[in-house]
Amino acid sequence: MKNTTLPLVINFHATAVCNFGCQGCYSKWHNHQSEAWNSPSNVRKVIENIARFHRDHFGESAAPWRLSIVGGEPALFKDKIQFVAQTAHAYGAEVSVISNGSHLENIFPFARLLSQVGVSLDSFSHETNLKIGRHCHGKTLGYEEIASKLAALRAINPKIRIKVNTVVNQNNYSEFLVDKVSALGASKYKILRQVPFGCCKGVTDEQFYTFLRNNYREDLFVSSDAPSRHIFVEDNSAMMGSYLMIAPDGRLFQNGQAEYRYSHPLMSTPFEVAMKEVGFAEDKFFNRYTSVATDATIAKMKIASAA
Ligand code: SF4
Repeated sequence: MKNTTLPLVINFHATAVCNFGCQGCYSKWHNHQSEAWNSPSNVRKVIENIARFHRDHFGESAAPWRLSIVGGEPALFKDKIQFVAQTAHAYGAEVSVISNGSHLENIFPFARLLSQVGVSLDSFSHETNLKIGRHCHGKTLGYEEIASKLAALRAINPKIRIKVNTVVNQNNYSEFLVDKVSALGASKYKILRQVPFGCCKGVTDEQFYTFLRNNYREDLFVSSDAPSRHIFVEDNSAMMGSYLMIAPDGRLFQNGQAEYRYSHPLMSTPFEVAMKEVGFAEDKFFNRYTSVATDATIAKMKIASAA
């Protein structure tokens, strides 16, 4: 690991359980009994392992590492998610949660510990969300509901950063979302191209660029105290092999190959060994936190639009 200025961000897929059923969802681990967060001792071992790695490799002056608790839908399990957040915070991590927003109120009791909350929002249309599978027994999450939950979250923790993720797919590629994303107070908007997975074929270049043409609107995010770039774009190639992800059972994994590549469990395998086992790509990882991948994709979109 060479870079010491950007934070080491690790996505902990704490559970595969979700109340939505999105097409193309890659959270398909089925053995919920083996989820590491069922055992507080396993949670401590995994977090201790990462904290030791961070201290040994980056030193005390490096940017803090960040544990992003993701799923499935981790906010369905309020006691477990709170324990993970408190433990990571106690070990010096910044803690963030990525949620589909449906049970965001379950993170309110420990919201003061969080530096960021990410909400995955692929549409504000009830019909589109039904088509995508972003619903629980026909109930979808509308703009007013998520706006109200985020306002309540900010009332508890005024410093919390709000991030919105949108996966561009066959059902939403022609929609305009960015004005509402901005109105939610998001300081970061990440636009991801759906990765073909199982029966889901993803989107064509033209569909992806249509979404970018309509929604790549940095001007809607301008404010005096915010960073200059708010919108980050990830095409499929930028997403492959560029995340540090922990599966629910505590193994590090990577998505760069046809099938996931797994390490041995982090409860018993040093983090640096696990990174080698999955073939972690450092340059790609840190590019996600700069403008490199976004600039390249926007340049391609402009060339395609001019042709
Ligand atoms: S909300 Fe996320 S975890 Fe749940 S089904 Fe959709 S993509 Fe999968």
